[in-house]
Amino acid sequence: MNKLQILVVEDDAPVRNLITTTLKAHDYKHIIAENGEEAIRQAVTCNPDIVLLDLGLPDVDGVEVIKKIRTWSNMPIIVISARSEDSDKIEALDNGADDYLTKPFSAEELLARLRATGRRLAIMQANAGANESVFTNGKLKIDYAAGCAFIGDEELHLTPIEYKLLCLMSQSVGKVLTHTFITQKIWGSSWDNDVASLRVFMATLRKKLEAAPDSPQYIQTHIGVGYRMMRVE
Ligand code: CA
Repeated sequence: MNKLQILVVEDDAPVRNLITTTLKAHDYKHIIAENGEEAIRQAVTCNPDIVLLDLGLPDVDGVEVIKKIRTWSNMPIIVISARSEDSDKIEALDNGADDYLTKPFSAEELLARLRATGRRLAIMQANAGANESVFTNGKLKIDYAAGCAFIGDEELHLTPIEYKLLCLMSQSVGKVLTHTFITQKIWGSSWDNDVASLRVFMATLRKKLEAAPDSPQYIQTHIGVGYRMMRVE
């Protein structure tokens, strides 16, 4: 397997060194950028597999870097935020980031995110060009053409909104989708009461989808942020 190349965008030298040391020790290639302008230049010239992007950069806000990259590329972007406020992460995710890490994070956490994103990347590349009409993930199967979903051989009896929600999550396996993103896709709007409705529909969907709704295997909750469908082996 080819080594993945990671673009590390971080102005803080100790954090950057920690990241690059971890990457080197685990068979990843990397390039670095110390500010937003350099990050965009490196993203264009090196076309990395994954971008690890600090949101607090000396020249521009990391979210601006995401917006720029998203004008031409879907390369996975994992944001690193020193700020614990959810609003920064949410803004980054709404602008096209795939995942996030909150400082301080451990080498294990970093590696786990990279593995998850690497798997997502492999699926994206395998599906590129192919218009898959059947989605499978663990025991879950969605037949988009027929408009039905199954767990094993058993058909799930979903309401139209539950089905729409399941399809939406399945189309971005491994990616955190924010409440705003989901409610806009499902209802075309994003009011506070839509987020409350979303919670209700997610709860009823999980009852049908998950073997143990209290410890969900397929759909993970990110409190205050959104939801993510996990890849199930
Ligand atoms: Ca910083």
